[in-house]
Amino acid sequence: MITRRDFLTVLARLAPIVGGSGIFLSDPFWQRFLSRDDYGLAHAGNYADELIRTAPRARYWRSLHKDSTVQCFLCAHSCVIKGNERGRCRTRINVNGELRSLVYGRPVSIHVDPIEKKPFYHFLPGAEAYSLGSSGCPFQCKFCQNWELSQSWPEDYQVSYTPPANIVRSVLSKKVPVISFTYNEPTVFTEYLIDIARDAKKHGLRSTIISCGFMNEAPLAEMCKALDAIKIDLKGYSERFYRTVSNAELRPVLRSIKQISRSRTHLEIVNLIVPTLNDSDRMLKELINWISGELGPDVPVHFSRFHPSYQMLNLPPTPVSTLERARDMAISGGINYAYVGNVPSHPGNHTYCPGCKKTVVRRHGYFLQEMNVKGGRCSFCNRKIAGVWA
Ligand code: SF4
Repeated sequence: MITRRDFLTVLARLAPIVGGSGIFLSDPFWQRFLSRDDYGLAHAGNYADELIRTAPRARYWRSLHKDSTVQCFLCAHSCVIKGNERGRCRTRINVNGELRSLVYGRPVSIHVDPIEKKPFYHFLPGAEAYSLGSSGCPFQCKFCQNWELSQSWPEDYQVSYTPPANIVRSVLSKKVPVISFTYNEPTVFTEYLIDIARDAKKHGLRSTIISCGFMNEAPLAEMCKALDAIKIDLKGYSERFYRTVSNAELRPVLRSIKQISRSRTHLEIVNLIVPTLNDSDRMLKELINWISGELGPDVPVHFSRFHPSYQMLNLPPTPVSTLERARDMAISGGINYAYVGNVPSHPGNHTYCPGCKKTVVRRHGYFLQEMNVKGGRCSFCNRKIAGVWA
């Protein structure tokens, strides 16, 4: 019997062939087709019932006082959700006029990764990060590298309830200094990550997220207080690109980035460059001008290599020359720390002092080879290097 996972895999593989317009699994037609009956596990229905029954009340929503309808304002989609229905991220459900989170306490993927893999290059280089994610996402990026989590439903992965204190205990037992909320979009489990991060802080741990930046202002303000570092994927400087490739909008992402840069939370930006879609000189120049104009020269920017994935198997990997061009443009445009990402051993992986131009952090893949930053300063010329180094 074909499982739901097999079916999703086939869909993803077929999408570019059926015209490249993309099949969004949140489209009502596909949602109907992907009923729980085809999950392939006899007890999946029971698990979904248990999830709904035990799901805690969500934050960031309001009642619309008509037919038990509510409005979620966790992210910029601001979904209006009728009784027994879910928002676009599939993780928040209206139960009798109350919005509940189906992913609180339900991490489905946990690994210890190098922090460079997130990537953070200016936040505790060389540290290990206890990384966890759940299911669901407000976006439907056609090139998603983690689509099996981001485009799944909370009931697709049966996991037991794990309270925040248990996560923190597990991190402490592994002697890992950082927690990273990642893999799917952590905004969908904001309540959970904030509770973990607050508890973690009491034990001297740092917390980070890897996000699309689509959350609204109020939840982001809470995140900035609880978290130590945020990496935002700025997918392209174009509303059209966001609409057609991610089924989302650019404007809220820019607003979030500005909000984070005004806070005390460390910020890094990744721009995944996808051949033919967001690799034009014009789009790169606009993105670079916006970053240097709005955020200044010191926010690290990673131009990352695309590899064919999910519904974009029809495009080639990004040529390394494109990433080098973007990095050169960024440096000429006034950005001090611009990187070539997803190309191991490339000289564009290293950090160079903006003053004396010497290599202050040398990397090989995700690992450090040489560290010439002492007390946040270049060991050669004593210039301050932006970031969190200890
Ligand atoms: S978090 Fe989910 S339910 Fe809430 S507005 Fe965003 S997509 Fe909709």
